[in-house]
Amino acid sequence: MIRVLVWNEFYHEQTKESVKAIYPDGIHSTIADFLKCDDIEVRTATLEDENCGITKEILDETDVLIWWGHARHHLVPDEVAALVRDAVHSGMGAIFLHSGHHSKPFKALMGTPCSLTWRESGDSELVWVTNPAHPITQGIDRFIHLPNEETYGEPVSSPNPDEVLFIGGYSGGEVFRSGCLFRRGNGQIFYFQPGHETFPTFHIPEVQTVIRNAVRYLVPRYRAEITCPHVRTWNDPEGYMIKK
Ligand code: ZN
Repeated sequence: MIRVLVWNEFYHEQTKESVKAIYPDGIHSTIADFLKCDDIEVRTATLEDENCGITKEILDETDVLIWWGHARHHLVPDEVAALVRDAVHSGMGAIFLHSGHHSKPFKALMGTPCSLTWRESGDSELVWVTNPAHPITQGIDRFIHLPNEETYGEPVSSPNPDEVLFIGGYSGGEVFRSGCLFRRGNGQIFYFQPGHETFPTFHIPEVQTVIRNAVRYLVPRYRAEITCPHVRTWNDPEGYMIKK
């Protein structure tokens, strides 16, 4: 079983009727519901949980963490962001959705401000596939049509990704690197731009397909804390590892 933890700040759904109407049980519940299947088990956590529902033990038992946050990034303790960063370095997969670009754990993993240009005008968006052969883009035609989405535009001050899988183009003219892969330590991160809370983006089947594909792609094949071992030569009779 692939073990997924969906984290959501769960704020707009409780404070704005328009958002509650789209995600009555929270964005995390919607994502959990469409991910659950024979080989994916899903837990959820929110800002309301003790320690944000995140401990080292919980992350050790998580293959892929999904993160949605927007207005409450500052309430996530630095220690929680550090736990997520360290878990990715050891091999855990992580998916940061939409405004997760400004979350503490994403910025801790990127090391840059991760800012961008934005506008809430209800532009439509075409999310274009740039690599139709990649596992994350399987099941998607040339593009995903989003009738309405928050506009995100370049320049974005995150590091250049290892691979761009989607480029978004908006009716207002902007373009944006909408689906990006980053390798950090033993782990991989997928950033996916769609998902503004006032639009039903996570109910769109193609968006669900991309997130499901990303979960399967990011499952760790190797997981270990990164250390800096002092070693002997490969053929030393005492062995190449110097035990402490
Ligand atoms: Zn947004």
